[in-house]
Amino acid sequence: MCRAWAPSSVQPCATSLAHEQLIIVVSGPGGVGKGTIVDALVRRDPCLWLSRSWTTRERRAGERDDAYVFTTAEAFEELITAGGFLEWTEFLGNYYGTPRPDRLGTGADIVLEIELDGAQQVKRQYPDAVLIFVLPPSRHEQERRLRGRGDPDDKVHARLRKAENEEPVGREQADYVVVNDELERTVDEMMTIIERERGLRRSA
Ligand code: 5GP
Repeated sequence: MCRAWAPSSVQPCATSLAHEQLIIVVSGPGGVGKGTIVDALVRRDPCLWLSRSWTTRERRAGERDDAYVFTTAEAFEELITAGGFLEWTEFLGNYYGTPRPDRLGTGADIVLEIELDGAQQVKRQYPDAVLIFVLPPSRHEQERRLRGRGDPDDKVHARLRKAENEEPVGREQADYVVVNDELERTVDEMMTIIERERGLRRSA
């Protein structure tokens, strides 16, 4: 039941109990604002549970220390060998992965914020997962956001190049494509998608 992470911890989530559990995969190029969007989604809806990924990349200056489980390549590879990841990938020289969620089957709708290769892995395992691909309003704005995070020039360029290659594939494979031009509007649009998918699973 979806109750442990509700603020009062008392009432189960009526919405989540009434439909088949959703896996919502939020993907899209770096600098598009995925992290901010998913944080806003889980703040709005206590029946959404955000998975925390593992990564071997260094923590950025000013980045929250619970943004990821920051770990070593050795520890990451051990978990791969133990079959502990739902999906994992190597992205620009670092490992990123979603540990197998212990929330499957609990009633909470699970939100994953991951890049495209991982999103495809999840879709192969869970064809009913809902893939929402987020796009920046423009390449210029994406670059501005990437620079705002303090990434060095070479990393910004590598991420922009990767985005150019991945966008057409993401658009084609996504169940929904959302342009993140204004945060509140984007979050509204994503909540509408999630409610729609809940409704479809209720009536299925
Ligand atoms: P960043 O280094 O900017 O935090 O993340 C780089 C990319 O890795 C982003 O596109 C982010 O969505 C993605 N990412 C974060 N966690 C995971 C994960 O667990 N699995 C996969 N496949 N990608 C992830």
